[in-house]
Amino acid sequence: MACEVKTTCPYCGVGCGVIARVGDDGAVSVKGDPEHPANFGRLCSKGSALAETLDLDGRLLHPEIGGRRAGWDEALELVAERFSQAIAEHGPDSVAFYVSGQLLTEDYYLANKLMKGFIGSANIDTNSRLCMSSSVAGHRRAFGSDTVPGTYEDLELADLVILTGSNLAWCHPVLYQRLAAAKASRPEMKVVVIDPRRTMTADIADMHLAIAPDGDVALFNGLLAHLASSGAVDQDYVSANTNGFTEAVQAAAALDLPSLSDVTGLTQKQLRDFFRLFETTEKVVTCYSQGVNQSSAGTDKVNAILNCHLATGRIGRPGMGPFSLTGQPNAMGGREVGGLANMLAAHLDIEKEIDRDLVRRFWGATAVASKPGLKAVDMFRAVADGRIKALWIMATNPVVSMPDADAVEAAIKACPFVVVSDMQRHTDTARHAHVALPSLGWGEKDGTVTNSERRISRQRAFLPAPGEARADWWQLAEVARRMGFDEAFSHASQSAIFAEHAALSGFENDGRRDFDIGAHAAIEPAAYNDLAPFQWPQPKGTAPQGTRFFAKGEFYHADGRARFIAVQAPQARRANEAFPYTLNTGRVRDHWHTMTRTGKSARLSSHLAEPFVEIHPRDAQNIGVSDADLVVIESPHGSAVVRALVTDRQAEGNLFVPMHWNDQFASKARIDALVAPLTDPFSGQPASKNVAVRAKRF
Ligand code: SF4
Repeated sequence: MACEVKTTCPYCGVGCGVIARVGDDGAVSVKGDPEHPANFGRLCSKGSALAETLDLDGRLLHPEIGGRRAGWDEALELVAERFSQAIAEHGPDSVAFYVSGQLLTEDYYLANKLMKGFIGSANIDTNSRLCMSSSVAGHRRAFGSDTVPGTYEDLELADLVILTGSNLAWCHPVLYQRLAAAKASRPEMKVVVIDPRRTMTADIADMHLAIAPDGDVALFNGLLAHLASSGAVDQDYVSANTNGFTEAVQAAAALDLPSLSDVTGLTQKQLRDFFRLFETTEKVVTCYSQGVNQSSAGTDKVNAILNCHLATGRIGRPGMGPFSLTGQPNAMGGREVGGLANMLAAHLDIEKEIDRDLVRRFWGATAVASKPGLKAVDMFRAVADGRIKALWIMATNPVVSMPDADAVEAAIKACPFVVVSDMQRHTDTARHAHVALPSLGWGEKDGTVTNSERRISRQRAFLPAPGEARADWWQLAEVARRMGFDEAFSHASQSAIFAEHAALSGFENDGRRDFDIGAHAAIEPAAYNDLAPFQWPQPKGTAPQGTRFFAKGEFYHADGRARFIAVQAPQARRANEAFPYTLNTGRVRDHWHTMTRTGKSARLSSHLAEPFVEIHPRDAQNIGVSDADLVVIESPHGSAVVRALVTDRQAEGNLFVPMHWNDQFASKARIDALVAPLTDPFSGQPASKNVAVRAKRF
């Protein structure tokens, strides 16, 4: 019988509501949910093609051990036994989970609970480390919490929207549509795009600043110094709510205008115009994404931006604030449950005994991790050098997406025991699994996700589980029980996990922590099923409401005050004589991650059919390449062969190659094989936007 189900798109961090319709003949169609507050009915090309990606071709439908079909009992017993054995022989830090922003919050919650509360290690990290961990670190330094202060509506209410390191038009398309519509209805609204490439997003920009790679700290430091010297600082807000203003301004003033021009690659006039526009516009939103986060100075970049909003008090009020755009559908949910190796659950701090004790008591935990675990790049180093004896990878494909991907593949191949939970049977990572566990995909799984504006929405199942595929949370609970942790992993359903997650968020909270959804601590399955999208916080006893943070201060450092962070512009240039070009990696409009789903849609694949390199005409001429020629790109870590796309949208000296293609779709196209495993010192996020490479005709 035909049915319609309200659910959420599984791709980007906008988190659009989708209505999926299953017809009498079983055919699925999708449309945007007009009542969902993220998208009000809109969908982008990826979201509207969701029904084209649901076939079972290539799916992993049964557990496998060493490539042969196995039963669930046998597979789960083996996973529990090998993890228990490694822990007994080598200690809890000899095992690791590498998970994903594709997981639902309920899956993520149990993975984190098992590793940090019962195995006793914090060696659980996530592909969100590659996505927005610099924003987390920057928020925590400035605010004392990982809090996104504003909402999507702020982009529509602002008079100036700055998009830095964000190709919003392709990477968060529905939010871009909302911004473009707001600008069309209020032409006085200004948009500034800061990006070395003139992307599609720049097409609506009043000002495009083609900044030099990693020039952002210098730019926003220059802005802070300008605000301080031009009388634009909100002295009342700064003195009532912050610490460290003087030191931050001193550091920011280190470069004069000519030096700033050198470092940023922008003209002095461009700098003056940008500074003046920010200074004279009260309602400013600064959005930032991977161009800021994926840097060896990503956390400093985030804090340089936050400094400018704190200095002007433009934070948490309608149309004002810094805004971190998350790449993945549930990167935020992962942050809430403590999916990063340096976080605990519910935004608690793993480095504070009081927080570890709280979790210990709430979970009845037997072995709470006492220190942060290995962040993604370090985790795979530990796999490579033999410290990790058992590794469980869930819903992600690190052989394609990790920096230094060839070395990561070699490490996984050499690991004594690798479990992969995935929907697909033949990913570049799954082929190295000792045990492969079939997971549910979109339309089959059921739980919650949180989008970039802290809005929690339901993903609902509308298709039967194919073959023997099971939910990731079920797999985790079954292994946990077999490891002897029966009582703490006896959840009957995803709604019971969500209720526990909500209860932990409100446990002994009293406003001490930003993340509090205690209102749902006793949610029953029927109410969980009907749960409407809502933004956190929603403490016990409150009704859902639109929320912003920090208009009146009330930060989460112990003294309630925010911190300005004094930051210095990094040495940004990595290109050298041997590797003279700067490689920048990123997304295209119509593909998602390593294409295991979007690659199934002929419509999506026709937008850009092959992996390519955007190269400036003069650079193309210098290496003797014409449009559509094949180009070899090499770094000290690896090489790739891609098609030349000659365009002056690309700045001279820079190359852009998309991150999606892998050995399933094109040979020698895993661009992350070239990316150095160089990370930000605070967040551990890899620097995927500034890689020294050379290029030549194939
Ligand atoms: Fe899905 Fe993002 Fe597109 Fe919305 S904007 S439909 S969440 S991919």
